[in-house]
Amino acid sequence: MTPRKNRGIFTYILILLISLFCIYFVISKLSDNSAKTDYTQIINYFDDYKVSYYELDLGSGELIYQLRGEEKKQKFNVPNVDIFLKDTENYRTEYNEKYPKEKLVQNYIKITDRTWLYSLIPVLLTVVLGVFILYFMMKQSGGGSKYSSFGKANLKNQIDTRTATFKQVAGADEEKRELEEIVDFLKHPRKYTDIGAKIPKGVLLLGPPGTGKTLLARAVAGEAGCPFFSISGSDFVEMFVGVGASRVRDLFEQAKKHAPSIIFIDEIDAVGRHRGAGLGGGHDEREQTLNQLLVEMDGFSGSDSVIVIAATNRRDILDPALLRPGRFDRQIVVGYPDVKGREDILMVHANNKPLAPDVDLRVIAKTTQGFTGADLENLLNEAALLAARNNRMSITEKDIEEATIKVIAGPEKKSRIVTERDRKVTAYHEAGHAVAAYNLPTQDKVHQVTIIQRGMAAGLTITRPDSDDMHVSRNQMRESIIMLLGGRVAEETFLDDICTGASNDIERATNTARSMVTKYGFSNKLGTVVYGSDNDEVFLGKDYGHTRNYSEAVAAQIDEEVKNIIEKAYSDCKAIIQANSEKMHTLANYLLKYEKIDGADFERLMKGENIEPVVN
Ligand code: ADP
Ligand code: MG
Ligand code: ZN
Repeated sequence: MTPRKNRGIFTYILILLISLFCIYFVISKLSDNSAKTDYTQIINYFDDYKVSYYELDLGSGELIYQLRGEEKKQKFNVPNVDIFLKDTENYRTEYNEKYPKEKLVQNYIKITDRTWLYSLIPVLLTVVLGVFILYFMMKQSGGGSKYSSFGKANLKNQIDTRTATFKQVAGADEEKRELEEIVDFLKHPRKYTDIGAKIPKGVLLLGPPGTGKTLLARAVAGEAGCPFFSISGSDFVEMFVGVGASRVRDLFEQAKKHAPSIIFIDEIDAVGRHRGAGLGGGHDEREQTLNQLLVEMDGFSGSDSVIVIAATNRRDILDPALLRPGRFDRQIVVGYPDVKGREDILMVHANNKPLAPDVDLRVIAKTTQGFTGADLENLLNEAALLAARNNRMSITEKDIEEATIKVIAGPEKKSRIVTERDRKVTAYHEAGHAVAAYNLPTQDKVHQVTIIQRGMAAGLTITRPDSDDMHVSRNQMRESIIMLLGGRVAEETFLDDICTGASNDIERATNTARSMVTKYGFSNKLGTVVYGSDNDEVFLGKDYGHTRNYSEAVAAQIDEEVKNIIEKAYSDCKAIIQANSEKMHTLANYLLKYEKIDGADFERLMKGENIEPVVN
């Protein structure tokens, strides 16, 4: 917060404090009309029967009394009427005995009930506070005032200076091409408006986390050289009621003032969730914000030269209203980078890091299928940390390898106690995967096998593809299922017991088999038909909504076929493992002793070379 904003708030607080003090002062003045006499003194008068006349207001506790022999009546404010009456009971009962000739004059009246003033204090305080807060809220939404704060905080700085260039975004050529049109429009809006072309108001970037959506949005701003107003959907979540909506209003106001400009709403799913969804209500705030967003988007025309870019990885939960024409009708999927893209991304992030000559980024790109840009950045950073920790001047292949595994499975858990039995199970399990992979022509080369615990995994068999082939053959899929089952088969064959550790393998094998049948038409029995419209963009989270366009009977057939594929793969796998039982023992023993083996040693071991004396 800037000092100026601070001063604004302090002024308000000062005014508030002063007015509270005034109110309190007035109220206490009203009730303070007693003389300087104190309560004990008064009671003493009564106890000594000095009082000849008194009049008590039961409501306010105002006491008017006259002392014997005095002319003047005096006033006193009794703090508590009940206690006073009790304290003076003796006086009343015995007065006539003591002074039988004099008649006690006592009046109990209720002229004024001033206690309401006291009960009014909290009400007044609340009202004052309420007005105070309301005033603040109005200020925020009203905009323009120099005292604006809270909701409008940072609005001045909302022109985000963290822009990028397209050069910094590697590998996303298609995405960049689509965004180039937007850049050109922001650079030369007249060119488009003069010819009557309608430019999209909203662009929605869809993709898994870390694929560079935020980076792309910043790059559009950087390329177009126009102001970039960014806000994250999650920012809205913690705001006061009503602030989110006014914030959106301000955002659009500012953007229009600085047009041509870009508004970027990151993680829009936080506000753009389907209205009326969510349990137990209480989402009014978010809905207000969303409604305001829709109103604003409808409110500006293409000629305003403001483009709204939003990013999300959950398109499925977005309110459909957001995707209607005239809103975010342009959608760009930012996907996982392919092998060439990964190499380019690695190149960008290796730019400022000294690499040893043995490091080949192309090879790393091959090993890192499924990595996002953020993962790759993280990978190089981890490698650099490792190199630094070992006082190396440059990053070696070994550092990268270690870092890759770290990024995939979390850091090694050397400290965790693993029982001998667990180690043995893991060793045979991983050996099973590795030996199966080695004996399957379509499967990737084994790159490393380890039984060191990492994250959730007890062990790991890493294979390295020779190419990033997008086209997978039927045989390749079948063999990948065999490879996945290798772990379980090995456990069963050599340890005559099976463990839960293979459940993930089996799940993946089953999924592969199912898509062979329903998606790729690889099943002879069911033919070349796609069953169900399976959304390919699994990351968008639509996993609950498979629309089924086939009957129960076909469903049963599919299940049957999937089971057949798995069973066939299982027996094939068993054959491989049993034929290689000698090598299985050798490899498992090697792993138990050394914990890991690299690709070259594994190869030699499989060829029957004796790389180490076998320990039993
Ligand atoms: P998202 O918003 O999709 O979650 P980010 O844009 O925040 O992803 O990406 C996080 C970081 O990962 C970026 O700051 C950048 O350093 C790196 N990164 C992601 N994608 C790429 C890419 N295509 N090229 C270069 N770096 C990338
Ligand atoms: Mg992001
Ligand atoms: Zn496994």
